[in-house]
Amino acid sequence: MEAKLVLKSPAIITRRRTERGFVEPLDHVPGSMLRGAILTSLFRSGRLSREDLKREAEKPSLLASPAYPIVRGAKSLPATPFMFYCRKCNSIIDVTRESSEALSHNKELKLSLTCEKCGEPLKSLYGYIVAKSGNRVERIRVRTFRSTSVAIDKGRGSAMTGMLFDYEAIAEGTEFWAWVLAPEWLQADKMEVAVGRGSSRGFGWAELELREAQHTSQWLKAGQGGFVAISPLSPLKRIEWEGSTLTMTKVFGRTFRLQAGWDFVRGFRPIVELVKSGSMVLARASGDAIATLLHVGLPVKSGDSWLTGINVLLSIDEYYKLLGG
Ligand SMILES: [Zn+2]
Repeated sequence: MEAKLVLKSPAIITRRRTERGFVEPLDHVPGSMLRGAILTSLFRSGRLSREDLKREAEKPSLLASPAYPIVRGAKSLPATPFMFYCRKCNSIIDVTRESSEALSHNKELKLSLTCEKCGEPLKSLYGYIVAKSGNRVERIRVRTFRSTSVAIDKGRGSAMTGMLFDYEAIAEGTEFWAWVLAPEWLQADKMEVAVGRGSSRGFGWAELELREAQHTSQWLKAGQGGFVAISPLSPLKRIEWEGSTLTMTKVFGRTFRLQAGWDFVRGFRPIVELVKSGSMVLARASGDAIATLLHVGLPVKSGDSWLTGINVLLSIDEYYKLLGG
């Protein structure tokens, strides 16, 4: 299904890293967070029981891709490591296709580090989100504002001295798009969900609309070649899920350590090493449901729990089709 998420109140969406407890504001809703938001909403409204949630934790059947902002009607996506910009003349250099070709033919990558027009050192767009504006790709920013919050000591229930946190909140009205693999108990529908921090203080309330996805034959081609991971990627050689297989031969991107999402049944947070969204992957994909699974990501087991919302892959053609060109 295709999901549209519209923020009804500002959302504080962060990823807490393990090293030094650094909190990073995000410009998108991670797939695991979107999945959790749907499950929580269904549980609150009595449509799912605690038993159902336990079953979902043991073997996920609801899967979701990350949700990226829609900017002036255009879908945004994470930039690849082969997109650059020049701060001086505002040029965008996108060599994603060429680089994918070179990588798959084992050729050397020729990446220019300076701007052809003005000679300035180029900056990487990898790590940011981009959308099509006119006929060129542009870095986009979501509308945010700063919000300051006091850290609460959970043990004592009181405010901790000197622990003021600055949060970046995404403005209400911001729209996001995502894909959701829905089990039979989840119908096309509208529901109220909460994403990010502070939902009890009114932050992150959103309307989620689920519609049947329009799949064209072009979407269903998976096969072999270059893909862009539009979510974090678990750098494994082989991932299997329900009879579908993803075999990765090369991954081009930066790794980071992530404290994975809250497991709402066990209260356990696994720590994993993942590759940052936007990475380029050479892979072979097979299985009856693989085209759908690549859009919501193949889950990977970490300790006792499943990591979801990762390994969402688009072929290079799909990636540019979504960007609108
Ligand atoms: Zn330039």
